[in-house]
Amino acid sequence: MAELEKLGPKYRIALRIARDERWERLQCDHKGIYADDCIVDRVMKHRIYVVATNDRDLKRRIRKVPGVPIVSVARGKYVVERLPDAPEK
Ligand SMILES: [Zn+2]
Repeated sequence: MAELEKLGPKYRIALRIARDERWERLQCDHKGIYADDCIVDRVMKHRIYVVATNDRDLKRRIRKVPGVPIVSVARGKYVVERLPDAPEK
């Protein structure tokens, strides 16, 4: 949340979605507001998550963690990488 706030107006829609109270918020003990380390750490410890991101560097890091699917948006469509049992391309 703090990282989205710091990113400014360009990310205001993402921030508004993130603020929706229907999402469950996970607490952690990481310092600072850089979310990537937090997300990578989380999915390495508990491989029960799907990571939704369009961040190129974060996707690269998540791909190194076995069994964690990635959802992103490209040209108006959702793209899902590595959903379990999906045929490999
Ligand atoms: Zn954290």
